[in-house]
Amino acid sequence: MILGAHTGVEGGLHTVFDQAQRDGSSCIQIFSKPSQRWSVPPLSKQEIESFRQARRKAGDLPVLVHDSYLINLASPDPERLERSIEAYAQELKRCADLGIEDLNMHPGAATDGDEAAGLQRCADAFLEAYLLAGDPPVRTVIEATAGQGTNLGYRFEHLRDLLARVWDPDRFAVCIDTCHIFAAGYDWSTPEGYAQTFSDFDEIVGLDQLAWFHLNDSKKALASRVDRHAEIGRGEIGLEPFRWLVNDERFAGLPAVLETPNNRMRENLEVLHSLVD
Ligand SMILES: [Zn+2]
Ligand SMILES: [Zn+2]
Repeated sequence: MILGAHTGVEGGLHTVFDQAQRDGSSCIQIFSKPSQRWSVPPLSKQEIESFRQARRKAGDLPVLVHDSYLINLASPDPERLERSIEAYAQELKRCADLGIEDLNMHPGAATDGDEAAGLQRCADAFLEAYLLAGDPPVRTVIEATAGQGTNLGYRFEHLRDLLARVWDPDRFAVCIDTCHIFAAGYDWSTPEGYAQTFSDFDEIVGLDQLAWFHLNDSKKALASRVDRHAEIGRGEIGLEPFRWLVNDERFAGLPAVLETPNNRMRENLEVLHSLVD
């Protein structure tokens, strides 16, 4: 597993690679714009060039952008959906400008309670957003969620259904957030549960669809459907399952980022590194 962390962009996008080095990250996740903003001015030539240069200098480490939390591509509200599609197109464009290959997203919320319709809207919205963005060479990475409220993506079947409906399977992949799937009810914290969870995932979605991990422990109980990240080994999952995960040969080449608070990344990465055989 390639271990890294979500990295803050407060000092400017190009500074994330220095921060990654300080944290001991070999891959990173960033927000390319403030996560609570619908829209921002396009990136300047200068920002784009400094970022690309800094990334090259850092050895082209894997970078994942997390999309804005405002975006809901499954919304039954036409206005909100339209706004989300525009915002997602902007996220795609920013990735393309920065030369970032992967954009992580949450499949959205079916706020009217109709999950099947919500999944269909999300799949349709992907196509609209890609067309709006000029079909950039960016891969959408669909994140498994905790299923809080009416959020979609808390069953492996939701991920499968989305992947089945997109026009180009190579443009899409999946991210497992270890806190989210636990909160969603997949108990990967015991040896039997671990084996079962990933064999279920393989059967339903396919391990070959898995592109990234988010590594987080969970403050909330199994199947609570509540999304609260805990530091590694300090939540309901505990330390041992993370040892199995970072040493699992099936995931050897995959990038995995922590999403614990920014000031605790280095310590949490040290914990993960100490688990590697
Ligand atoms: Zn997320
Ligand atoms: Zn996550």
